[in-house]
Amino acid sequence: MKRLAACLLLLVTMSPAFAVDDFDARLLRADEIKRSQGAVFAAELDALEAADARLSPRQRQFLAYLRGWQATYAGQYGDAAARFGALLREAEDPLIRFRSRATLLNALTLSRRYAEGFDQLNVLLGEIDTVTDPGARAQALGVSAQLLNQVGKYGESLRYSTELLQESKLPWARCGAAQLEFEARFKSGELTDVSPQLERWADECALQGEGIFAGLLRTYVSRLHLQNSRYADAINTLEAHRAELSAARYPFLNSDVASILATAQLALGQLDAAASNARTAIDQISAGVYTESLTEAWRVLYQVALKRGDLQRAVEALERYREVELAYLDDVGRRALAYEMARHEARAKSLQIESLNRQNQVLQLQQQVAEKNVAMARLSIVLLLTILVFAVVWALRTRRMQRHFQQLAQCDSLTAVASRLHFMEQASVALEQLARADKPAALVVIDLDYFKSVNDRFGHAAGDDVLQRAAFACGELLAPDQLFGRLGGEEFGILVPGSIAHAMELAERCRLALLEIHFGVEDQLTRLSGSFGVAGTETCGHDLRRLMTDADTALYEAKRKGRNRVVCHVPALDAAARLRVIA
Ligand code: GH3
Ligand code: MG
Ligand code: MG
Repeated sequence: MKRLAACLLLLVTMSPAFAVDDFDARLLRADEIKRSQGAVFAAELDALEAADARLSPRQRQFLAYLRGWQATYAGQYGDAAARFGALLREAEDPLIRFRSRATLLNALTLSRRYAEGFDQLNVLLGEIDTVTDPGARAQALGVSAQLLNQVGKYGESLRYSTELLQESKLPWARCGAAQLEFEARFKSGELTDVSPQLERWADECALQGEGIFAGLLRTYVSRLHLQNSRYADAINTLEAHRAELSAARYPFLNSDVASILATAQLALGQLDAAASNARTAIDQISAGVYTESLTEAWRVLYQVALKRGDLQRAVEALERYREVELAYLDDVGRRALAYEMARHEARAKSLQIESLNRQNQVLQLQQQVAEKNVAMARLSIVLLLTILVFAVVWALRTRRMQRHFQQLAQCDSLTAVASRLHFMEQASVALEQLARADKPAALVVIDLDYFKSVNDRFGHAAGDDVLQRAAFACGELLAPDQLFGRLGGEEFGILVPGSIAHAMELAERCRLALLEIHFGVEDQLTRLSGSFGVAGTETCGHDLRRLMTDADTALYEAKRKGRNRVVCHVPALDAAARLRVIA
């Protein structure tokens, strides 16, 4: 019968769109109804578990997550923590991991394992920005705010609940956020009396089927009536929603409701009802758990016994009251301590991270400097190489130019023999050496005959050609130690190491070579001739100027005598006898 009812419920609540073995859809649906339809949810989990063999690993992990959630909801925190611990070790899906951590945090908070709770909170808050799933984000923000409320950090808690309220459109998340926000405002003392907004949220959440959140909101309304000594209102608020409150089936809520009723009834002198509610409040809480409502309930029992004059009961209740109050205060103290420790650890970690970051920055700067140095060195090398290449090119060019200019200065461009300047330099050096060696030399000066008429008759270019041929014809006859140069115009000079006779003989051979040169037009070819003046160191000494002058004198004589001849300068007493004509 029971099974039939569960099946019927399942059929009613499940959308017909889901096939029985569409496990993904069934898991999602179970996830959706887990708060609002507890019995259907539980039956569906059983059904899915029965089909375990047909589930994929992810589906199995999703189911394990829902089982963990169910255990948390039922107050089986140890079981829940073990399930989530296993899921965090095994599950690969980031969303299942994140949700497992969030619900684990919830279980740790509710089972007062605060130190572990703060560890999970730190991880959760570190991951929250990477999560986009609205449900998972809402859950994480919610449990964070819840834990902070537990340790009395209401300001910080409000940050998360406000954020949740702003970003979430999910009804359960909005109700959760509102409950956490009013809890923070109520417990911090900011809320001093019932506000229409608070009542509106309680009604709204009840309408949405969020029984626990609605119930908790109603307890704040009721406690605010209590605080303002409106005991009947406090009772009425809860009595008016008795069905809704008990449907939530949440032990902490039930205990809280009963203890508020007990306190109000005590104030109104309704001792029996107060004692009964106080016992209910105590019964709802498992042994070893200490809550504010538990303390409150024992205090009511003590005062009821006192009022009745039942001193023994009063003493017993007082002892229990003191005991649970101390345990509760100890719990509160442990929460605060865990919070402080977690904060210190977080600060130490952030300091460590900061110092690592700084070290990193220093290393980065060092690396940048090193890179810049390398770049500078590279640039310097490139610059040096460029300068070097430039210098080499420049040196080569300069040298080539120097050579070119030297050649221009030393060599006659038309005849390719030594220029006058170069000839004179070489001749004077050679004469000095010969003088030192006490060896003779002679200078032959050549002047082409009637050369002007060559230009006049056949043109300047023909004249140039004749000049080149004449220089070539003479140059060919010379030995390597004999210097040959163009003295200017159609005049040439030869320095001949050796005797005058040797020079005269050379001059004679040159004269004959010139006679071999013909120029002009075919039928009226003309012969070239030259006049030669020779002077020797035997008669004039090794002074070049003197040799030049004397050779010129002999040349002049050769011209005068009719040209085409060699005349040697002979020093004599009278001018006529000075010259001896050879040819
Ligand atoms: P002489 O027998 O008396 O030496 O008669 P000449 O015509 O050779 O005498 P002169 O020294 O008056 O003339 C030299 C001529 O040589 C003048 C000039 O036109 C010619 N001459 C000088 N240098 C060059 C040259 O480089 N090329 C050509 N084509 N002619 C030149
Ligand atoms: Mg001349
Ligand atoms: Mg001449």
